[in-house]
Amino acid sequence: MNKIIVQKYGGSSVADIDRVKKVAEKIVERAKEGNRVVVVVSAMGKTTDELIKMAGKITSSPNERELDMLISTGEQVSIALLTMAIHSLGREAISFTGMQAGIVTNAVHTKAKVTAINHKKLKSALEKGKIVIVAGFQGIDANGDITTLGRGGSDTTAIALAAQLEADGCEIYTDVDGVYTADPRIVRTARRIPVISYDEMAEMASLGARVMHYRAIDLARNYKVKILVKSSFVPGEGTLIKEVDPMLERVIVRGVTQEINVGKIVVQGVPDVPGVAYKLFKALAEEEIIVDMIIQSSHRNEINDIAFTVAISDFNKTIKITKRLAEKIGAEGVISEPEVAKVSIVGAGITSDPAIAARMFGALAKEGINIDMISTSGIRISCLISASRIEDAVRAIHKEFNLDKAGEEK
Ligand code: ASP
Ligand code: MG
Repeated sequence: MNKIIVQKYGGSSVADIDRVKKVAEKIVERAKEGNRVVVVVSAMGKTTDELIKMAGKITSSPNERELDMLISTGEQVSIALLTMAIHSLGREAISFTGMQAGIVTNAVHTKAKVTAINHKKLKSALEKGKIVIVAGFQGIDANGDITTLGRGGSDTTAIALAAQLEADGCEIYTDVDGVYTADPRIVRTARRIPVISYDEMAEMASLGARVMHYRAIDLARNYKVKILVKSSFVPGEGTLIKEVDPMLERVIVRGVTQEINVGKIVVQGVPDVPGVAYKLFKALAEEEIIVDMIIQSSHRNEINDIAFTVAISDFNKTIKITKRLAEKIGAEGVISEPEVAKVSIVGAGITSDPAIAARMFGALAKEGINIDMISTSGIRISCLISASRIEDAVRAIHKEFNLDKAGEEK
């Protein structure tokens, strides 16, 4: 049997017709090597942003079913054009929307999760020797309504298909040639990371490394799909994301990330009784709002403050819900702060070495950057700081851990 290769091309890789033609050539090359090729493609360039902007000119809170109906159209344009471009190179190819590819999701519009893939149609096209082009980012729920998987969701489509088809390789083509020790636009000396574990990559992605959608990495880890992230513009080795045996690794800071689209909310004067945090965070969870850093600090007189952060896209909604809940639980008030940002370091085992946290805080202190909140996981340390200092913070920390020499030292 020929190998099955799943490739994904992001919006920048198909931003205009010339690029669509170039991508078609790359796909045909891969097919000529004797592979069965499934390609997931995003909407061209900034199409999705433009569609969202159009909706915004009509209403600030569009109906989410209709928003999905609108933004899923971007990918339908790119699959058709890419398929035509492959045809004109003399190869057989066929395009499928999410529905046609059998991608079934739950009914949570704008952030749906894939629940099943009925890939019969897709498999049979592959068996007929056709290159299959699938619209990323979209699926269909049990009602037959179009859903989308959240911004950047084409990665998830690619991983889900690779898992389901038991593909031999999953290649993600984007506008950077791999994952870097920091955003190269902020740190000029940032270096490409050749191999990274799923855990580290998932953290980096959820913390703002824009290379891949973090949910796609979770999915890849669950199904052990190895991912090669490469540039669609320049040749290079890229970054391989896979299981890395922690025994072979010494504790190492892998990279620094920043997240700027963060908002902070503080519920002040919360009565110190059981069930209060439960009520608040349950209400937010019901609205699918992802709460990030949470800090509860206690005061005199049996009251607490609870501070937490959310993505800025959920900020207004979160404030509304929190204010409603604050009244219910008898809190004194709610304050919110949109101008915050999160800087993090990621690396397997870094929290087991206390010196690493100390060095990170020291690097910030030396720059005169105040830390507002701190949170850690097994492989991550994050600090919330003022958004205006985020670039200084990333550079200072990158330097502190000698990441500009990453991979060179023996
Ligand atoms: N076109 C969608 C977006 O811009 C999905 C994707 O690019 O992966 O978010
Ligand atoms: Mg995109």
